[in-house]
Amino acid sequence: MNFCPQCGTKIVASWNVCPNCGHNLKLERGYQQPAQPQPPVQIYTQQKPEYQPHQYRSYNSRPRSNNTNGIVALICGLLGLFGVIPIVGSIIGIVLGAVGKKNDDDPRMAKAGLVLGIIGIVIWIAFYIFLFSFIFMMFRYPPD
Ligand SMILES: [Zn+2]
Repeated sequence: MNFCPQCGTKIVASWNVCPNCGHNLKLERGYQQPAQPQPPVQIYTQQKPEYQPHQYRSYNSRPRSNNTNGIVALICGLLGLFGVIPIVGSIIGIVLGAVGKKNDDDPRMAKAGLVLGIIGIVIWIAFYIFLFSFIFMMFRYPPD
């Protein structure tokens, strides 16, 4: 009759593992031989990591040209200028135009959107000033 060297539980000789603590009895019995089997010698072939460098590049240096800011800026600038979405469209055109001027591959559309946005906002602010001063005048000096 043997006892587990770790926890003292009675052990049947044929058992490999102590049922109480999980101690490896097989290694304990054969301690004169190397307790741990030699780790197999691995022929370590260095595999090149399969990362794709272009995934880590910044957004504006992708091989495919990216002018999203400029396209949206141009559309919003035009919509703002023609009063489809006055002021708001122009502001979007100016903001995205400024962003696209820096980030787009081709900054021309962004510049155009920026300029259209500025023109649109000037025209529409002038229009609203005229409109509100007209309304104000109508209230102040009502026609007979
Ligand atoms: Zn044990």
